[in-house]
Amino acid sequence: MKIVVLKFGGTSVADVPQIKNISLKVKKEVYLGNKVIVVVSAMAGVTNNLIDLVKRMSDTPPNSEYDVVLSTGEQVTSALLAIALHNLNIKARSWLGWQVPVTSNKSYSKAVIEEVKTGPLLEFFKKNQVAVVSGFQGLSGENRITTLGRGGSDTSAVAIAAAFSAERCDIYTDVDGVYTTDPRIVKSAKKLDLITYEEMLELASQGAKVLQTRSVALAMKYNVKLRVLSSFEDLPGTSIIKEGKNMEKSEISGIAHSLNEAKITLSGVPDRPGQAAEIFGALAKYSINVDMIVQSSSINHKATDITFTIPETDLLTAESTIKKIQKKINFEKFITETNVVKISVVGNAMRTQSGIAKTMFETLANNQINIHVISTSEIKISVLISSDYYELAMRSLHSAFGLDRK
Ligand code: ADP
Ligand code: ASP
Ligand code: MG
Repeated sequence: MKIVVLKFGGTSVADVPQIKNISLKVKKEVYLGNKVIVVVSAMAGVTNNLIDLVKRMSDTPPNSEYDVVLSTGEQVTSALLAIALHNLNIKARSWLGWQVPVTSNKSYSKAVIEEVKTGPLLEFFKKNQVAVVSGFQGLSGENRITTLGRGGSDTSAVAIAAAFSAERCDIYTDVDGVYTTDPRIVKSAKKLDLITYEEMLELASQGAKVLQTRSVALAMKYNVKLRVLSSFEDLPGTSIIKEGKNMEKSEISGIAHSLNEAKITLSGVPDRPGQAAEIFGALAKYSINVDMIVQSSSINHKATDITFTIPETDLLTAESTIKKIQKKINFEKFITETNVVKISVVGNAMRTQSGIAKTMFETLANNQINIHVISTSEIKISVLISSDYYELAMRSLHSAFGLDRK
């Protein structure tokens, strides 16, 4: 039995005509003789509206209720698509996350999938029907609905594809593949035919929202055959693959940006062992993901400054957490800045080629763009700059690394 997983994102299910359009794509797969599991997102804009609704009710809603509200978007689309398939005489049924079930931990709003149970759907396939699963949803051990974080339907799709050892997992979206950078910002961005899991993981984690980072990590772990394709045009898309000799030759495979960044500086931190452990330990307790970290060296061994970045959405929690330990750490000032963006260049070739950092810093300098913080990994260099210049930075780096479409 060949199972294929097709995932459709928000813009692909934005309205009734779009849902009818994708029902035709599903029909095509059914006619090819495949068992089809479709995973859908909420209609474009719906999740944002639901978040606004909760915020208008409370600044501090119980997390579990927040997830009950947010998960409703995907419930609507799964049933609408099942109805559209019925219109085409294709037997189909909607499946909510808890019905599959997709079990998760109880980190509401950023829950991690524990297991996708295959029994009920395998039984259902005996009836030769299409399963339309609501993405983004999980079920906690407390028997409550969870959601998987923004963009989480990608992760639902890949987790389902892995659990059913699917032939492939096709992510249909509003662009026709993975590009060298966000094609909405850099018009000369090039579509990639192939990209490695590793590079895609790095691009996604640095802000390329075309795939949720966790979906790429899962695909890499379980060897899921993953593709990104357009919902609107019949084009070949991008395949995410293991590293091989056919890879694109340029030194950099892509550039990502993240606007969801906040910079925190603790100035005058007394220079003694255990301070960093205290600060970052406190943040970890609240699952705040710290990204870039710089500590100035203390010339007189008395005090240093520690600067780090976190997701802007966690700033309030971070501020209250750090202020609780201010007396213990005895730092002088807590300074924040949110008008910042992180730009990252990513490429496997960085492992072997030198000069990439030089090109990056020179290009920014030539454009009078000041760098606040730098961080690197084996295949990535990131800089934090003022968000006023992020489009200029992305465009000039894209050209400097020879990525522009001819
Ligand atoms: P969906 O609603 O289908 O999940 P998303 O909005 O989450 O779609 O992701 C698709 C968007 O990702 C594109 O419209 C594009 O603006 C953005 N994007 C960012 N970086 C890239 C990239 N490197 N390649 C392709 N798209 C990218
Ligand atoms: N609807 C959710 C969101 O907007 C999940 C998804 O689209 O993947 O984040
Ligand atoms: Mg998405």
